[in-house]
Amino acid sequence: MTDLLNVDDVLERILSGLQPLTGETVDLLEALGRVLAEDIRADQDVPAFASSAMDGYAARAADLAGASAEQPVRLTVVADIPAGVRPDITVRAGQAARIMTGAPLPDGADAVVRVEDTSDRWTSDGEAPLPQFVEVFVAPRPGRDVRQPGESIRAGERALARGTALRPADIGVIAALGRAVAPVVRRPRVAILSTGSELVPPGSALAPGQIYNSNGFMLAALVREAGGEPLVVPTALDTVDDVRRRFDEALAQAPDLIISSAGVSVGTHDVVRTVIDALGHIDLWRVNIRPGKPLAYGQVRGVPFFGLPGNPVSAMVTFEVFVRPAVERLSGAAAGGAAMVEAALAEDVRSDGRRSYLRVRLARDGEQWRAHPLGTQSSAELLALARADGLLILPEGIRHAAAGSRYPVRLLRPLPAGS
Ligand code: AMP
Ligand code: MG
Repeated sequence: MTDLLNVDDVLERILSGLQPLTGETVDLLEALGRVLAEDIRADQDVPAFASSAMDGYAARAADLAGASAEQPVRLTVVADIPAGVRPDITVRAGQAARIMTGAPLPDGADAVVRVEDTSDRWTSDGEAPLPQFVEVFVAPRPGRDVRQPGESIRAGERALARGTALRPADIGVIAALGRAVAPVVRRPRVAILSTGSELVPPGSALAPGQIYNSNGFMLAALVREAGGEPLVVPTALDTVDDVRRRFDEALAQAPDLIISSAGVSVGTHDVVRTVIDALGHIDLWRVNIRPGKPLAYGQVRGVPFFGLPGNPVSAMVTFEVFVRPAVERLSGAAAGGAAMVEAALAEDVRSDGRRSYLRVRLARDGEQWRAHPLGTQSSAELLALARADGLLILPEGIRHAAAGSRYPVRLLRPLPAGS
């Protein structure tokens, strides 16, 4: 087994050869989940002007020193200021202006008194005649309930960093800066080529000996989830000519990455590597991982290429460990890494000394997580993968792990609540 390549070395070698793709400009609503290609800097203060944080009265703090419920201060009301217009008045000594949340603070005023702290008892049903005078029951400090210019974001400040995967609040920030579009990294175009003479597309009838192509759909879903655009190529028969023809079709779609499944092992019909030798080269083959040992990586006409094993669980595990980080690198995402927890094995397990990714269900056990291995751990058991909460990672060299021993688990979905 010493001829097998180390998982971490392989990942590092793959990632060191990949750069983020170029940027493109998309409408804000299309930017959700995309990765910023550039920093977003504010070209003006947000908010741009001093405004009221409350519905109430704008006044001069100096006039209200010592005001209380017992000794209210009476001010002359000189204006009624709604949001959206710049007031053309100045609040002078002894005066106040009724003001709504978000309305610009008038000149002269330096504080806002909430309506509850005044004698005004307006209702919001439209009947709110402006009183001639208002009594104020509190003594605000200067600046009280005033939003200052640049309080949220200063002009020139970096609001969002390149490499940020945009979430709804980020979209809100970009909109608040007045921009209708966002500079994002182009989505990686990932061609997916399923090989295998036994494969039939779902939706059609199976002849004896045939199986449905599950990898093609699962890999397309994984690519989409990872932020790429899947380009699905029709399945290839296990012949050099047919596999070659399908690779040419994949290349015609100008992919940034090509993924094939199956045909990379040592069977007599495993022709993928033969075709790659003609169209490009294999840089890496056979990794110290279980499942997924036959993984191949290389270039096809200059396009990075992953040859994933055909067994569905092997295909997905090698996608998670190697392809997802590659797609993320191409899409410019800041390196985050997969979400992990530590869990104690619920039962003894055996492996063969390769780094092993066991499909486990997680259950809460007091303060810790307990990991229950699912099914037979066969690399053909797709349903066990679908039911798994995560992949428990046994390091290289371990052939037997006892119940109760603790290992890292790479999460495949958010942790089950409570259970
Ligand atoms: P191979 O890598 O060609 O030796 O395939 C290993 C196993 O995976 C075989 O049982 C194949 O039938 C199965 N397999 C290969 N491709 C797919 C696919 N696209 N969907 C489901 N199973 C597959
Ligand atoms: Mg095969």
